[in-house]
Amino acid sequence: MTFIDNKSAFEAAQKLFTGGINSPVRAFKSVGGTPPFIDRGEGGLVFDIEGNGYIDFVQSWGALILGHARAEVIDAVIKTAKKGLSFGAPTLLESELAELILSVYGFLDKLRFVSSGTEAVMTAIRLARGVTGRDKIVKFKGCYHGHSDSLLVEAGSGAATFGAPSSLGVPNDFAKHTLLAEYNDVAGVRRLFDEHSDIAAIVIEPIAGNMGLVCADEEFLRALRDLCDRNGALLIFDEVMSGFRASLRGACGFTDVLPDIVTFGKVIGGGLPVAALGAKKEIMDALSPIGKVYQAGTLSGNPVATTAGIAALKILIGTPDLYETLENRAKRLTGALASAAESAGAALQIEYRGSMFGFFFNKKPVSNFAQALQSDTARFARFHGAMLKRGVYLAPSQFETGFISLATSDDMIKTTIAAAQEAMRETV
Ligand SMILES: *Cc1c(COP(=O)(O)O)cnc(C)c1O
Repeated sequence: MTFIDNKSAFEAAQKLFTGGINSPVRAFKSVGGTPPFIDRGEGGLVFDIEGNGYIDFVQSWGALILGHARAEVIDAVIKTAKKGLSFGAPTLLESELAELILSVYGFLDKLRFVSSGTEAVMTAIRLARGVTGRDKIVKFKGCYHGHSDSLLVEAGSGAATFGAPSSLGVPNDFAKHTLLAEYNDVAGVRRLFDEHSDIAAIVIEPIAGNMGLVCADEEFLRALRDLCDRNGALLIFDEVMSGFRASLRGACGFTDVLPDIVTFGKVIGGGLPVAALGAKKEIMDALSPIGKVYQAGTLSGNPVATTAGIAALKILIGTPDLYETLENRAKRLTGALASAAESAGAALQIEYRGSMFGFFFNKKPVSNFAQALQSDTARFARFHGAMLKRGVYLAPSQFETGFISLATSDDMIKTTIAAAQEAMRETV
């Protein structure tokens, strides 16, 4: 394995982009070293510009549940692209993708497509504020909902990685409308409702994947639903990561609690930029052009992007046992990682939800952000490097989630387990 061209590519990129990247976590700052520059992906693997292959557990941050360059998706994209890349006018493709999404999330009536998860959640918040006539929102520490102003307060993902929980440039006047609570802490949320009568919405990742993987307790979600109902607030499930990923019906496949608004991204674009928000008709019709909550997007519902989403969702919906297969692999991998940690004497907390998995080098169980922050990030960094060297590409931060794709074969899982056994021992 050589790592020379990657280094010079990264040096050259530093001159072009702040930090050499176009999204912070890609810079490998929290694990050290140089990120491989990717040339191509093939199923469960990515290859860098020096030809090094890696078993990829990032999968474009979860978007590529079918793996890289799945033939049906690529073929469909090429076919659509030949008819023109963008019209800024309605197409049948948007309706087709919407029907697929709504066939799974049957409790939603309508959608609006946007181009990023950030936009989807930002719009969901605006919609909730518009519908309720209230300004405040409740957000959980460690949850990441994109980088819009109201939501960059104690956010997870890159924001957690860099220990800059609140970004510069977010006016206090905005941030003061974002009330913070600890994940899985009902009493904290109840206190906020006692103190504030003008809460428009609670926004939550019902499976939190941006502080590492942390799952919400069922009673916690039920309490949030109840608090929203009793106080006239809306419940927003941010399923940008978990939707069509944790199960076909995302986090909603694991809970009976129904939210008022759901946001989607990642998987629904099949690797291209598509995101959406959905809700009942009465809520959605508050959006322009019917209602008075404004939102628009030049490339929203882009035909090529929606084509990729359609091709991916058709396979996800049409393949029996697909999610069970993924979950079984996650179960096997996490079980083996736990044993590897144990034999190496490493304290490891590990969990999976469907094809999402996460682990913390931490002595105690993690059910919120404060506990996640107690993890041994230095050890994670050493482990990450040891895995990369062995051809396993994990997300370069303790506070991200791992993703298994349908193309992550049993053999790849086996190779990963063997690498992890060595890496755990090597990085004590
Ligand atoms: C990725 C993510 C976002 C932001 O999506 P972008 O497409 O990166 O803007 C929002 N919410 C959650 C839960 C995410 O995982």
